[in-house]
This record gives sequence, C-alpha cells and structure tokens, in this order.
Amino acid sequence: MADIIQLLPDHVANQIAAGEVVQRPASVVKELMENAIDAGATTIKLIIKDAGKTLVQVIDDGKGMSVTDARLSFERHATSKIRSADDLFQLHTKGFRGEALASIAAIAHVELKTKQEQEDVGTCIEIEGSNFVAQEVVVTPKGTSIAVKNLFFNIPARRNFLKSNTVELRHVIDEFHRVVLAHPNISFSFFNNGSNIFNLPTSNYRQRIVNIFGAKTNEKLVPVEEDTEVLKISGFVGKPEFAKKTRGEQYFFVNDRFIKSAYLNHAISSAFDGLLKGGTHPSYFLNLTVNPQTIDINIHPTKTEIKFDDEHTLYALLRSAVKHSLGQFNIAPVLDFDRDSTLDTPYNYKANGVSSPKVEVDKSFNPFKDSTNLGGNHPRTFKTQIPNNWDGLYVGLESKGNDFQKDFDEVQFESEESTVSLFDDDKQLDQTYTTHQIHNKYIVSTIKSGMLVMDQHRAHQRVLYEEFLQNMTVNKAASQQLLFPLYLHFTPQELVLIKQLQTDLEHTGFVFSNILNESVEIIGVPVSVPESEVSIILEQLISDVENEVPDSHFSATDLLAKSMAKSLAIKTGQSLEKDEQEHLVNRLFACKEPNVSPTNRKTFITMSVDELDKKFI
Ligand code: ADP
Ligand code: MG
Repeated sequence: MADIIQLLPDHVANQIAAGEVVQRPASVVKELMENAIDAGATTIKLIIKDAGKTLVQVIDDGKGMSVTDARLSFERHATSKIRSADDLFQLHTKGFRGEALASIAAIAHVELKTKQEQEDVGTCIEIEGSNFVAQEVVVTPKGTSIAVKNLFFNIPARRNFLKSNTVELRHVIDEFHRVVLAHPNISFSFFNNGSNIFNLPTSNYRQRIVNIFGAKTNEKLVPVEEDTEVLKISGFVGKPEFAKKTRGEQYFFVNDRFIKSAYLNHAISSAFDGLLKGGTHPSYFLNLTVNPQTIDINIHPTKTEIKFDDEHTLYALLRSAVKHSLGQFNIAPVLDFDRDSTLDTPYNYKANGVSSPKVEVDKSFNPFKDSTNLGGNHPRTFKTQIPNNWDGLYVGLESKGNDFQKDFDEVQFESEESTVSLFDDDKQLDQTYTTHQIHNKYIVSTIKSGMLVMDQHRAHQRVLYEEFLQNMTVNKAASQQLLFPLYLHFTPQELVLIKQLQTDLEHTGFVFSNILNESVEIIGVPVSVPESEVSIILEQLISDVENEVPDSHFSATDLLAKSMAKSLAIKTGQSLEKDEQEHLVNRLFACKEPNVSPTNRKTFITMSVDELDKKFI
C-alpha cells in the first residue's frame, strides 16, 4: 500500500494551533498584553473596536524587536524566552511557547510596528492569514504596536461562533483585569470604540484594585500577608458582608500569572466558613509567590491552570492566612492604605448621613406574607380580582400547542363549580383548601382528573415574570418611595448597562435620582421589592445581561423581567401557609403561559387517577 502520511503545511498547522490559543478577541488581548509585559513595557495601551472583533491593538514602550526578530516572531515555535527544556522550570516570563503570534497571524490581518531604543527607524510588517503582505521601514516610537484586525476573517464558522459585543467585551474586560491586577507597577489604558474605559496609573496593589473596581471597594478590603519558606502570600480578601452573589471578583495570581484553581478557591471558601450568607462568594485578590521549580504551568495551552508540587501545604497555608486576617479584622479594622485623594468620590457619603448599603438577604422574606407584596400594582385587590382573571385560564388556550391542550384538559379544578362563591367568600376559601406543600418545594393540589404537582419556585417566577413584563410594556408599576435614598456602587461598565436598562427599570417601579460615575442613587423601588433586595437584584441583572444573552435574542425588557422574577421568586426550601399555596396555584393559572417558567421549564405536572391506580396494581 502507498504511503499516505504527509506533513501539514505551516499555514494549516498554524490555523489548528490557533484553535487552541485563540478562542475569542479576549484571547488576543491576553497574548498581546503578556508579550508587552515580557518586553519590559512600563506603559501599555489597549485599543479595541467592536469588542475586539474588528480590532485589537496593543501598544507598548518595551524593548521592541530587531528587523529579523520582527519577521521571526510570526514563525511557529519562535520565542526569545526559552532556549532549552530546562528553562521551562525557571520561567519568569509569561510566554514561552512561541505560538501566539503565529496563531493570531493565521486567522487575522496583523500589522506589527516595532523599534528598538538604539535604532532610528523601525520595522512594519503586515500579514494576512499567515501570508506576508508587506515589510517596510517606518518611523515609530520605541516599543511595539501590534494591531489585529478582522479576527477569524478566514474561518467564518469561528467568527459566527462569537457572542454578542456585550458578552465579548465582558471577556475582554475580564482578561484585562487579570493582567492589570498582576502588574500594578505598569500603567495601562484601555479604549473601546474610541472611549477610554480604564486609565490605570502605576500604583500600589490596593490602589490598583480600587482604580478598577471603584472607590467604594477600598473599605471592603482586608489585607492578607504571609511569608513562609515555600510560599509568600500577599493581597486582599473582601469583607464577608460584601460577598457577592456572583463569582466575579476572585483572583489568584501565582508568580504574577492569573490562574484558576478550584482547590485553592476551596481553601478560601473554607476560611470564610460561617461568615457568608447562603449563595454568596467571597471576593479575593491574592498573589502567591512560589519557587518556579515547584510549579508546572505547561499543562494548558491558555495557561490558566497550574500544577503545584505540594498542593496540600499551599491549601493549608492559604486557608490559615485568610482566616487569620479575617480574625484580626474582626477585632481591629485597620486600614493600611496611604490615602490617595484622587480616589475620593466627588461627594461624601458619610457626611450625607446615609449608611452604606449592605447586601443583605432577609431570610424570612416571604412575598406572600405581606399582602402588599402580592402583586405589583394592585396588591390588595388580588383576591377579589381572581374571578375575572379566572377566565384567563381559558384565554388563548386554543392557540397553544396540543401538548398543552392535553395537559390542560386534565387540569380541571375540583372546586371549579363553586368558583364564584369560593373567591367571594374568604371564610369559605379557608375551608376548601385543596393544596399541600411537600419538602418546602412542591405544591400538590387535587384536580378533577387526579392531582397536580407544582414547582413553587418556577411557578412564582412565571407569575412575577408576566407581571413585570406587563408593568414594563403596558402599565407602569407603582413605586414605593424610600425614606432615605439608597446609594449603590457599580463599576463604570456596570453603569453603562444600568443606563441602557434605566427606562425599563423605571417602568417596574425603580426611581433613579442620580446616576454618577461610580454609583447610583435610588429613591424609589418597585412595591414588590424589599429595599434589602435591591442591590442583589441589580447585581444579578448585570451579571445576566453580561453573561447570558447573545445579541440576536436580546430584549432588555424581557431579560430584566426574567432576571427580577428569578431574584424575587420564592425559593425552594421556603415553607408556605395554606392560603399562600392556594394563591400561588391560582395566580399561576391566571398567567398567559402557566405551563412553563420564564426559562422554559415545566412549572407543574399532572397525574390522573388512572395513572395513580396503575401504580397500585
Ligand atoms: P512567546 O511569547 O511564547 O515567546 P509569541 O508568539 O507570543 O511567543 O511571541 C514570539 C516572540 O516575539 C517573543 O518571544 C518575543 O521575542 C517577540 N515579541 C512578541 N511581542 C513582542 C513585544 N510586544 N515586544 C517585543 N518583543 C515581542
Ligand atoms: Mg507570547
């Protein structure tokens, strides 16, 4: 048989390698910024357009490249950072694989300009999909500028796979955070579509964190320091009361390299044991310094995973260091921060006599307990409204899919005949409960054909979702005025999103009196929203907008309604009174689409007497 094995041409090999190195614009950002840092830059500028899909450019003032090196840098396995396999165990640079530039050049239009300090002129190289298009002499400042345009221009499948600009920008910002947090001694700026979204002067670590996450972060940070033979730890953890619902602010750096480690993350969580409210995650910004010989960072192409020789010791040290800091902070909350007046906000919260908002979950919060929580606009008239809405049960059913029709045929309430009197007379209502709650999770109700089992969390989500949608699109919801304005702090990017959603939020009952650079002032909230939940709802909303929704299906209104319904719906585990159970059942069946939750999951199932009978055979 003839020989059939061939070596892949370079450009094909590069495209394949690119698949590993470059998943999205954020990967390009990471590689280019890391190269700039390895080149000894003190000032790095990141410029992107359309979340990096059209352009990612990094300009540094590092050591630059010679004419030959400039050309060679795009070859695969071309690196100036290691010479032999032994060097892998002494790594002090971020790159070492010599793959990034070759990979990026295989799938984009790249323009490199570079000049070394001692030279008068520099080199400009253009490459498109691994093909050298031009190389010429240019006048350019010391350092390197690499512009990567039209990412994945030659791989449409990959390009189509990219998410919305909102999502891709989030990834770019995440990557940017990871790089800039590891290097407070380098100054960074970041421009998206011409607007300057970060400007980070060189500073100490605390200031860098504050410059990124907002002035209010300062008071949330507890320093962590530990210096042992095997490990040096420095950085900060967030105070427990500021723990977030989302895992956003969790950063480990090992020898200045951002890494992910579920194991070390666990060490921190366990140090916070007993201090956090359910479902929240601590923030942390921790730098670990270890001997490079004791780690292996070579196990993952994008290098965010790492292998330690002695993980158990690191775990124990980390846990105890964090515990120690939290303990100290409880007794004596000291600030080790040289105050920098540029970090001050333009107004003084304390002087305003407003206590700082805390993310606090009212565990006993029950939207059914207080009738004002029952239903947005007309909370107190809920019961008497039911007879009218009750018809809603049948409205639109004809147009529903057959499945639903079938389901619904079975859903005939036992008490149907007495509907009118049932709801006209509260006393009688009390006597005719047909619901039962099991495991604080499901509500079981008898229906004519058998029984119905409803998931309380999903059902309530459906109810709230339709109500919020109604408020946003048809009639504005009532707002309850707050006695004292609420100040909530957000990063500038988060505020951009809040501004986008402002009108919709106002329709649900939020009243913003002021949206500033780093905070919003809220003077009214929806009737159904307790004040203590406001910051959680907005935080959840922002994370939903940033992470979950591609542009094509993006409807801000819908997303907002979904997100708020998710945050406010009664949870699994919450015990409900009989009348609350009954109300939930009734309200669900007054919805337009009672059979699924806003995220398209079943809200209830039914089981006929026949089916039950069969089970007893
Ligand atoms: P690696 O970083 O793994 O060495 P890259 O493909 O990212 O591989 O870069 C290849 C080489 O190009 C680097 O080793 C370095 O010598 C050179 N290089 C890349 N970017 C820069 C830059 N911004 N300034 C100076 N040299 C650079
Ligand atoms: Mg590199």
